[in-house]
Amino acid sequence: MPFISEASIRYYQFNCFPDEVIHAVFTRSGGVSPAPWNSLNLGGMVGDDMDRVRENRFRAFDALKLARESIFDVWQVHGTNVVIARQPRQTDIPYQQADIIVTDRPGVTLFMRFADCVPLLLVDPKKKIIGLAHAGWMGTVRNVAAAAVDAICKLSGSKPADLLAAIGPSIGPDHYIVGPDVVISVLQSFENDADGLLDSRNGHVYFNLWAANQLQLEKAGLENIETAGLCTACHEDDWFSHRAQKGNTGRFGVLMALKDQD
Ligand SMILES: [Zn+2]
Repeated sequence: MPFISEASIRYYQFNCFPDEVIHAVFTRSGGVSPAPWNSLNLGGMVGDDMDRVRENRFRAFDALKLARESIFDVWQVHGTNVVIARQPRQTDIPYQQADIIVTDRPGVTLFMRFADCVPLLLVDPKKKIIGLAHAGWMGTVRNVAAAAVDAICKLSGSKPADLLAAIGPSIGPDHYIVGPDVVISVLQSFENDADGLLDSRNGHVYFNLWAANQLQLEKAGLENIETAGLCTACHEDDWFSHRAQKGNTGRFGVLMALKDQD
């Protein structure tokens, strides 16, 4: 049962994570935003009204019974910078620019926003540490997956083989047409492996972001990787898709938190 409903909110969960990790990939159902952000838009930079975005975020946190003020989010910039979150984000200082957030503290909810880019969720069940990363094509060719694994291992002494990883709903290999600039970057980043990640057909080149991130996680030493296999552009009823809605859309949210054991 990967999809769970709580009131009007509907979210996806992976099977691979232990009970002490709270996580959710929110579908677009159950929010208050009108088209083209209908309805659970969690993105504040897409033209939607901020009061509605805030109400949507409250609904998302409430559905998981997480404190609204436990949020730690960042300004996602398609890089590999890491932020270690030791307390919820202080709302009186500017957002940090980063695409990886890591925490070992219960009471901190990692939160990111997506509309085609790949959500990467990482857990070390032994060391009780979690990480969330954002991998579009640019983050992928920069190997944000390995940077996230590295950040967790450096912070907690985790072994990569102990980590559990999940690759969330994002634009699939059937829909992700890329231009020559992306193809060149993929060839440079993946070298001999690039052939298996790029597919030429119908006069287009398609890039397989799921396989690319899986390969990077495997090369980083991970053995347990679960892929949702859900294409955002195929399932516009469930997900915001930047490509499918031609840039005029919202953002769905992904959150992760460690359950308080007290
Ligand atoms: Zn698709």
